[in-house]
Amino acid sequence: MKPTAIIALVMLATILVLAGCIKSTESGTSHEAAHWSYEGNTGPSHWGDLSPDYRTCKTGKNQSPIDLTGAMPVANLPELIVNYRTLPVSATMHNNTHTIQVDENTGSTLIYNGTTYRLLQYHFHNPSEHTINGEPAAMELHLVHRDDEGNYLVVGVLFEAGAENPVLAGFWDALPEEEGETTLGAEVNIADILPIDGIYEAYEGSLTTPPCTEGVHWIMMKTPVEMSQEQIDYYGSFLGGTARPVQRLNNRAIAEKAAGFVRP
Ligand SMILES: [Zn+2]
Repeated sequence: MKPTAIIALVMLATILVLAGCIKSTESGTSHEAAHWSYEGNTGPSHWGDLSPDYRTCKTGKNQSPIDLTGAMPVANLPELIVNYRTLPVSATMHNNTHTIQVDENTGSTLIYNGTTYRLLQYHFHNPSEHTINGEPAAMELHLVHRDDEGNYLVVGVLFEAGAENPVLAGFWDALPEEEGETTLGAEVNIADILPIDGIYEAYEGSLTTPPCTEGVHWIMMKTPVEMSQEQIDYYGSFLGGTARPVQRLNNRAIAEKAAGFVRP
């Protein structure tokens, strides 16, 4: 073997060893998110103990979801200015074992109280997480937004059994049923699913999944929208039981906006 070939082999071996070290170092020290679920030892009552990162799930005083009973009408609440775009055919839906998440990168925004929030993704819970008079709805949609300062605003929509929902029908057949599966969505505008009266209930809460981060502005649409029992059952056949139980209201108030939002 020529000296140059030997040098090349030594260099290659060194690169491989270094690559292995880097890889093992990463896996050894990296801060991988702890596994959580909706049942058993990793279910909601244990989330706060699964990782130091999840402590707020246990110690937080402004947690979500909540029971929405007892909202007080407030006259001067801001309108929701919804400016969502239609998803391109390349939009993806992902089954992350907790939910089906539809990623948004179309520049859809929502303006609330003078602040512009970008729509990041939307996803579903079965049954609903928020309750009314202690009763969950069939399902719940969460539209997750964030502003430039990193503040979250989530718009929630409750579903009840009724007529087939035409917006959901646009992509329901393509939902990724398998854990970890990703499928292509459809050209729907999710704004079309919002109840037209625009009545909402607002409160300050948290993410409803670990790490249960607080400081989330919640806008729950008061009027449920319909989806068919078939649509509900289909989702539940592979991702049922994905709702965190309601949390204590503590010192929070729920404010109700009596009228409308704006869709440019
Ligand atoms: Zn959610």
